[in-house]
Amino acid sequence: ITQLQSKGGLRCNVIANAANWRLKPGGGGVNAAIYNAAGEDLQRATKECADTLRPGSSVAVPLPSTSPLHQREGVTHIIHVLGPNMNPMRPDCLKNDYTKGSKILHEAYTSLFENFVAIVQSCMGKQNTEPALEKPATAVTSPNDSKTKRECNHDSERTKKHKLVQPNTSSNQAREGDSKRSGVTTTKTWGSWAQALYELAMHPENYKNSDSLLEISDDFVVLNDLYPKAKRHVLVVSRKDGLDSLADVKKEHLPLLRRMHSAGVKWAQKFLEEDSSLVFRLGYHSVPSMRQLHLHIISQDFNSASLKNKKHWNSFTTTFFLDSVDVIEEIDQRGSATISSDDRVLAMELRCHRCRSAHPNIPKLKSHIASCKSSFPSHLLQKDRLLSSSTMHMDCT
Ligand SMILES: [Zn+2]
Ligand SMILES: [Zn+2]
Repeated sequence: ITQLQSKGGLRCNVIANAANWRLKPGGGGVNAAIYNAAGEDLQRATKECADTLRPGSSVAVPLPSTSPLHQREGVTHIIHVLGPNMNPMRPDCLKNDYTKGSKILHEAYTSLFENFVAIVQSCMGKQNTEPALEKPATAVTSPNDSKTKRECNHDSERTKKHKLVQPNTSSNQAREGDSKRSGVTTTKTWGSWAQALYELAMHPENYKNSDSLLEISDDFVVLNDLYPKAKRHVLVVSRKDGLDSLADVKKEHLPLLRRMHSAGVKWAQKFLEEDSSLVFRLGYHSVPSMRQLHLHIISQDFNSASLKNKKHWNSFTTTFFLDSVDVIEEIDQRGSATISSDDRVLAMELRCHRCRSAHPNIPKLKSHIASCKSSFPSHLLQKDRLLSSSTMHMDCT
């Protein structure tokens, strides 16, 4: 590690580090060697990006130019990645479940490569040069000689998103062009991953073969969230260019919102016919992580392996989640939606969405909600905020 370029002649900008869950320098092996070579700068920079790492995820840390590893060896980024864990002394032990282990390993690699691509893309964007991707790409890779600083690219950003089929390179480029032309409505910059829904909404025909795509209309597309946070979790994505999120919605968009709502109700109804025990809620995230206005239709069992952290939970069970009926009413009356919640509510304690009891961690919360039979909070029982087989008018056949 200390002689990558100086003696080894390898021009490596990015190093993938098999990290530990606390992202600490210790331990033996390569993790310790990387932290030693990079000095305290890496510890500091890592802390700014993340405190811990889940198995199957990664975090890209820009290495400060003061770090010896950056200065002497030209390394600009370390991507910490955490694989599956079989050690019962550490969190998320899989108890020798190798099926799950393989899945997490797959996620870890996917996350690692996505972070790497994001680094390459950001270098391309800033330097306007071709990346040297055709050069040998091993575990230690050398995209180009970048001195640009960039922001942390945390995996949680990816995992909370609705995964689609990966757009291919050509549609990627098309999308960047599109976003330049239309990116005038907001000052928010969206990462490459956050553009996936936008890309789908603009070019659904490219995704026709995807299992996750359920319906295409002129106004919207309906798809399964590929990281469903419940048994049933679909998205109704507006196809209107320029509507990145609820913040962009005005009174003129009311008919669109109503059509998206009706589509959501229709799909909830269909799912209820298949499983009458489900209860659905339709709503928008106050501050969505993905570009392009989209409505979530999510069953309230929250029984899903993809629901992994506090952010996931709180984004669907706090004021961060705005019921579609309320959004429509408010826009009708006031001309815009009030977005009072921000990311901070996502850090709140974990509470059962039914009885509001507090729980120390996700596993405990999950085991509670699996058996909680309390009725839903009273405000959710009004105005058709919840859809169930008893609230829906099921057609008699
Ligand atoms: Zn969303
Ligand atoms: Zn409860």
